[in-house]
Amino acid sequence: MKTHKKGWYADMQRRYFLYASAGLIAALAFFPRDIVFADHVEIEKMTLSKEEWEKRLTPEQFRVLRKEGTEPSGTSPLNKEKRKGTYVCAGCGFELFSSDMKYDSGTGWPSFFNTIEGHVETSTDFKLLYPRTEYHCARCGGHQGHVFKDGPKPTGLRYCNNGVALKFIPAEDKTGDEIKEKTE
Ligand SMILES: [Zn+2]
Repeated sequence: MKTHKKGWYADMQRRYFLYASAGLIAALAFFPRDIVFADHVEIEKMTLSKEEWEKRLTPEQFRVLRKEGTEPSGTSPLNKEKRKGTYVCAGCGFELFSSDMKYDSGTGWPSFFNTIEGHVETSTDFKLLYPRTEYHCARCGGHQGHVFKDGPKPTGLRYCNNGVALKFIPAEDKTGDEIKEKTE
């Protein structure tokens, strides 16, 4: 009787373990495609077709964001942008950098030494003969630029960004809206 009980209990445990494993496998198979967990914030991925992106973006934005193109150096008005504010992805509006992270690298591309945590993902590309670290918007996957290890302190990183892949939202606009809302 005792052994029978033990056997039954072990069997239940085994079954429970199998169910739990199956659940975990199902969860792992499902989540990476749709949601990334970054900094304890769930980022919902945005997926559009090639045609939808073409409608949404200018041809130059499409070439850079969706085809990993690079804008000619010195062409972005954002090189000279020094106001306080936020730099968002031109594809989906996701916040990628704050103005506090920007610096003048002298390369002719808007440069940052840090990103808003978890809002940028990286991959390695071999478009040139040596490997480079490509980075993109964590929400829509839009290519932003490449990151190099010759940046200023404290990170020592240089996020070399295509200006056409970004939109700048000045902080004054936000304040303006807030004041407007309060007085209404
Ligand atoms: Zn985006």
